[in-house]
Amino acid sequence: MFQYDYLIIGAGLFGSMFAYKAKLAGKRVLVIDKRPHVGGNLYCENIEGINVHKYGAHIFHTSNKDVWSFVNSIVEFNRYTNSPVANYKGKLYNLPFNMNTFYQMWGVKTPNEALMKINEQRNSAIEKMRGEGISTPRNLEEQALSLIGNDIYEKLIKGYTEKQWGRSCTDLPAFIIKRLPVRLVFDNNYFNDKYQGIPIGGYNIFIKNLLYKVDVNLNTDFFSNRIYWENMAEKIVFTGKIDEFYNYCFGKLEYRTVCFEEEIHDCTNYQGNAVINYTDKSVPYTRIIEHKHFEMFGLEVDACPKTVISKEYSMEWKEGMEPYYPVNDERNSRLYQQYKALASQEKNVIFGGRLAEYQYYDMHQIVEKILTFNL
Ligand code: FAD
Ligand code: UDP
Repeated sequence: MFQYDYLIIGAGLFGSMFAYKAKLAGKRVLVIDKRPHVGGNLYCENIEGINVHKYGAHIFHTSNKDVWSFVNSIVEFNRYTNSPVANYKGKLYNLPFNMNTFYQMWGVKTPNEALMKINEQRNSAIEKMRGEGISTPRNLEEQALSLIGNDIYEKLIKGYTEKQWGRSCTDLPAFIIKRLPVRLVFDNNYFNDKYQGIPIGGYNIFIKNLLYKVDVNLNTDFFSNRIYWENMAEKIVFTGKIDEFYNYCFGKLEYRTVCFEEEIHDCTNYQGNAVINYTDKSVPYTRIIEHKHFEMFGLEVDACPKTVISKEYSMEWKEGMEPYYPVNDERNSRLYQQYKALASQEKNVIFGGRLAEYQYYDMHQIVEKILTFNL
């Protein structure tokens, strides 16, 4: 007889959601995590009264009403709307590409003027490529040029993308930007989803509520005593790295990571927005996050005397760093398929989340997966 029905490895969003659902179904659940805190990458640390997103800025967005109702039943979400600004060589542009951006870029004032300018830019790029005998874009640069033209590509895409992926846009596949959404309205809302926001009081409350009355062991690495933990429960939910689960028998999967340089400033408002992207290649970081703007609006910003910012540096992952983004190139995709084949033979292990499925998931996708999961 096992002590628990489920041993959940990882107290991130997948593990916490699963624990909530299993607990509700009357199952006995134990969650372990190697980190000293729950929440996985959603974890925030309160610094100077501000919830600082320690593993990168997280904005919840979804178009699924059930998902939105569910998360709001756990904790109420605020009205934060993501509207990042790009800084290119000191000049500011609104994102995503919309009438504000086109006005800032070219001085055009109507959708018609903007469309004419975009088409002029696109056509000259397409003609130039034709002149060089290129009919189909062979890489991200050619794809972007043929979709949006040179000005936006050079100022808002090239530097940012190259910093983010650590490779030249001419070495990145075209499919990464199959579409570049262009809005002919003055709308800086980054997401197209119906609902978005941040939990009031921060993500820690959200996770704490999901894990209410669930047994949790922190600072506990499953692999440090694998046999002991495997004998603890009838079923295992594994949300760690799938290659590690199989002792890297086919080789190691690769990731991109982000390093954060955190600064506390003695002012109430450092940059006036939660997210400013630095799209020029000569600035080493990709963006600066000012955390208070996720949860403080209007007069609340000035009522909090200090501010915390994080500069984000995107880099190649090495052992010991946080594995953030799966690298979906041929080698890694093939390797993952080999591990997946082993995983599909397991009867008592459920692999879930971004590390175990080697797939980038937004939070709403994880919530949706668990809400519709049959225990
Ligand atoms: P994780 O949060 O990584 O949780 C896995 C947990 O397992 C970790 O706590 C880890 O410590 C633990 N673990 C691993 N191995 C072991 C082991 N051997 N023993 C014990 N414990 C173990 N999504 C959005 O919707 N909006 C955003 O704005 C957004 N921004 C993001 C920014 C960044 C930089 C990143 C990386 C992701 C972002 N996401 C965003 C995605 C979001 O983080 C994920 O959807 C979510 O965190 C996935 O949850 P998870 O449980 O799969 O993984
Ligand atoms: N991107 C860009 N300039 C920007 C922001 C984004 O060119 O200022 C491109 C870039 O190629 C990036 C992609 O859009 O990889 C997706 O960026 P986003 O920040 O939306 O996604 P995330 O990094 O959060 O997955």
